Amino acid sequence: MYRLFLIIGLLVLLFVLLRSMYRNFQQAGRSTPPPLDGDQMVQDPVCGVFVPRKTAIVREIGGISNCFCSQECAVKFQESRSS
Ligand SMILES: [Zn+2]
Repeated sequence: MYRLFLIIGLLVLLFVLLRSMYRNFQQAGRSTPPPLDGDQMVQDPVCGVFVPRKTAIVREIGGISNCFCSQECAVKFQESRSS
């Protein structure tokens, strides 16, 4: 009879552990949603500031699209590349 209680106790413990693990997994999935294209953060190579892609100034320089926080940074980058 004592053994039966021990087995039930272990099963309950296992169930609780599995449930908490499952909850952690769900929370981890919720905290890191798949990045949407417009909300993706891109780094300005001139000043190092991160800006959302939808508001960034995009310039195609040497076949690579570079994202800038402002027109000023885009001009600076183009000048540094051309000289
Ligand atoms: Zn900038």
